[in-house]
Amino acid sequence: MRTRSLVAALAASSIISLTSVAFAQRTITIRAGAVLDGKGGMQRNAVIVVEGSRIAKVGNASAETVTYDFPQYTLMPGMIDAHVHVGAHFGKDGRAVTPGETPAEAALYGVQNAYAMLMAGFTTVQSIGHPTDVPLRDAIASGRLPGPRLLTAVQPLTDTSLTVEQVRAHVRKNVVDGADVIKIFASKSIREGGGQTLSDEQILAACSEAKALGKRIWVHAHAASAVRASAIAGCTTVTHGSQITDAEAELMASRDTYFEPQTGLLLQNYLENKAHYLGIGNYNEAGFKFMEEGIPLNDAVFKLSLKHKNLKMTMGTDAVAGAHGRNANEVIHRVKLLGQPAMDGIIGVTSLNADAMGIADKVGSLGPGMEADMIVVAGDPLTDITALQRVVFVMKGGKVYRNVAAGQ
Ligand SMILES: [Zn+2]
Repeated sequence: MRTRSLVAALAASSIISLTSVAFAQRTITIRAGAVLDGKGGMQRNAVIVVEGSRIAKVGNASAETVTYDFPQYTLMPGMIDAHVHVGAHFGKDGRAVTPGETPAEAALYGVQNAYAMLMAGFTTVQSIGHPTDVPLRDAIASGRLPGPRLLTAVQPLTDTSLTVEQVRAHVRKNVVDGADVIKIFASKSIREGGGQTLSDEQILAACSEAKALGKRIWVHAHAASAVRASAIAGCTTVTHGSQITDAEAELMASRDTYFEPQTGLLLQNYLENKAHYLGIGNYNEAGFKFMEEGIPLNDAVFKLSLKHKNLKMTMGTDAVAGAHGRNANEVIHRVKLLGQPAMDGIIGVTSLNADAMGIADKVGSLGPGMEADMIVVAGDPLTDITALQRVVFVMKGGKVYRNVAAGQ
């Protein structure tokens, strides 16, 4: 009697959660007009079979009934952004600095940004980084909050006065504090000209310590000299690289260094939101002039880099306040305006990013045993890359977070 009334109460109060518990291990089938596997493969009219949180099979569509059907649309792996700042936001007064804000208020903005990115089809993002990323990462991972799988650098290294041993100690501390990746600033901001800041020895110390601890390292570097030192030091990824020449592109390619240039969202977002940033630190008129002039320079660097066929160009937007949820703009800019083949742009935001982040055995492509992270976009991104902005279905770990494909 007691049990029966409990079940009845549960069913009445929470049908959704009861359903998700009861069917946690059920089989879900998704059919799509086209399926991109994230590694360059494409299949027409395919069915993905999901068992629990993982993909069991990718195969030809049969006449059987499926759980979700998208005959006109394209299914692909959930997108990955390897460089965001998940907590960055405009405060109550619309400004990008938020004095007086409570930690609870700040935390909610991080939750909001994470949700916006998930809804935009990004099922994994790497935040580069802030200590408050850690509880957010853990809350998402435990299923308490909806959001992309979150990786974090915790506390980036910016202090140029550290000794080599102190640099190593910084890396070790971050790992203890829960860092998935290490981030160092080896050059100034582009708003200050981008010159090298850390010495070659400091860069080498950080990269070798990270490697010794089995961690990847992202190096912020604009100046060509800082990019060279980072590639030689064996860092995982150079981010920005706005002042490189063919020589540095070739060096990164030969050293297997991933290159993460930004050209389609970061500076555009600052310019669109100028009023929210102007007057804060180096966000002055001179800084904005650097950024305005930076867009064509970044475009030129991207085009130069495209010519180096062995250079692995990943996709990290450096999304700050105002940019979360618009992450796909970077891929669209690369493909639509700068001539990157659409398939390469899609690989860059899926399997290649997973490679760079050390998680390619779980996410970034579609195949048996992979986590069931996938999205459906309205249209064919191979012929119209803007389809990446029309995300109608989002699944992460076998759970559907978005399905707005009415009429399909
Ligand atoms: Zn950044």
